[in-house]
Amino acid sequence: MPLASTQALILGSFPINEQDKLTQLLTTDRGILKAVAPGALKSNNRFGSLLELFTEGNFIYYWNEEKEMVTISKGDILTSFFNLVSKPENIFHFYLMAEMILKVIPYNQKDKRIFRLMRSVLAARDKNTDIDWLFLYFQIWILRIEGLMFNPDICYSCFSTDLKEAWHKADFRGILCRKCKTDEKNHFSEEELQAIKWTHRHPPGQKSPGIVANDIRNLNRIFLQKLEYHGECSFNSKQYLPDFR
Ligand SMILES: [Zn+2]
Repeated sequence: MPLASTQALILGSFPINEQDKLTQLLTTDRGILKAVAPGALKSNNRFGSLLELFTEGNFIYYWNEEKEMVTISKGDILTSFFNLVSKPENIFHFYLMAEMILKVIPYNQKDKRIFRLMRSVLAARDKNTDIDWLFLYFQIWILRIEGLMFNPDICYSCFSTDLKEAWHKADFRGILCRKCKTDEKNHFSEEELQAIKWTHRHPPGQKSPGIVANDIRNLNRIFLQKLEYHGECSFNSKQYLPDFR
């Protein structure tokens, strides 16, 4: 059981017995790790506030191969986002982002972009970037990383390009132009299609030009459905956000 260390963000933690917690770590280089934090429920808990949602820490751990999980032997806080994440205007969006990562990203996927995405979204929120825009940026990138994002330039039926508007197919696999659509309901305006492309080359702190609150709400609603459809799941945390009920 050799020791290893990693930098990670906490995605969640819950009690597994009277003394210990199970946590999920979003690591910089190993994807998501399930980790036991021994003694985390004791009164003299040595982890302090390290295990709060989205706290960034440095963790020293050892492997327990039979159980496909690790045990944390030591950890230090690098950045506490506790005050930011726990604000009433942020908390439910961050719950939902953590739940999306845990339900959509497989445990053995070692894609370094997921950590960087989450870290940059937290940093941008700390600089007061609009939470709904950040949630949209997050959803678009999760879809892109998982290979589920459509090409916003092309109609998936006739392959015409340079679309000024489009409709998402009912099975969420591609978009259709005005000529090809039938009774699809999820519509994208030109600004909305532009915003999807914009996120490819820009950090989350910069909003796509011309995008307004209604566009962001529309895209967030469609992409949440799309993630649920592809992930064959339902996100419990959405019930706290009126836009998604
Ligand atoms: Zn078409």
